[in-house]
Amino acid sequence: MSRQLGDHHRRFLQTMMTIGITSEKEAKTLYQHCCETHKTQCAPDRLEEFIEAINSRLQPMFMQIRKGMSEEDGQQHYALVNTAETDITRMTSDYADNELELFRKIMDLIVSSENGKASSTDILNSADMMTSKKLKKGETQQLLLRLVQDKWLCESQGEYNLSTRCIIEMEPYIRAMYQDQVKVCHICHNMAFQCQICENPSCGIKIHNPCVARYFKGRMEPHCPACDDFWPHEIPEVRELHSLSKR
Ligand SMILES: [Zn+2]
Ligand SMILES: [Zn+2]
Repeated sequence: MSRQLGDHHRRFLQTMMTIGITSEKEAKTLYQHCCETHKTQCAPDRLEEFIEAINSRLQPMFMQIRKGMSEEDGQQHYALVNTAETDITRMTSDYADNELELFRKIMDLIVSSENGKASSTDILNSADMMTSKKLKKGETQQLLLRLVQDKWLCESQGEYNLSTRCIIEMEPYIRAMYQDQVKVCHICHNMAFQCQICENPSCGIKIHNPCVARYFKGRMEPHCPACDDFWPHEIPEVRELHSLSKR
């Protein structure tokens, strides 16, 4: 059903076009701000409905505000995504062919890794094995910087992981491209990259770090929720909302 949009909807959408992704908490604040600015009644618990109204008008333009979880903090986020081109080709206006080839290789490294990360050394080695025009070391480093700036990758201590925005936007592509290689989190059923893995070889389920924190909170001895083997990893603390860093 297509509904008329008000100025408060349009303001929200314009902001999303600028920032690309926002946490649910920030989205609520933005929603309130848009309603106040345009003197419209605001029902804080109706953000979903508000976004649905925007999405109904975005559909013909092959865009959507899609919800997904951050692997860093376990919080829900909203990202404005392109639904027409779900694969990497949607990046062709911003990146050259050889840059996209390297980005695909970085995705391969991240998807096939156990911890959802690719080291800069491995990425530089991959750059040496490109079939299209090779990127020099400095060019690779520049590209990595841009991929982080454009919110496709996140970097921490020389290791790169897929950003929340990338996971939300590229999910259909990643699922189609990597199929069996991509596992979902046993707890939240979203795709899992940065996670802990059950060490029982006949089990091997994955659980996101924030899902681990929530699931095992307050349990004396952690056991795998699938096979009941001892869970040998360090259980992270549940991170509080107000202490979150911005993603
Ligand atoms: Zn999870
Ligand atoms: Zn297990």
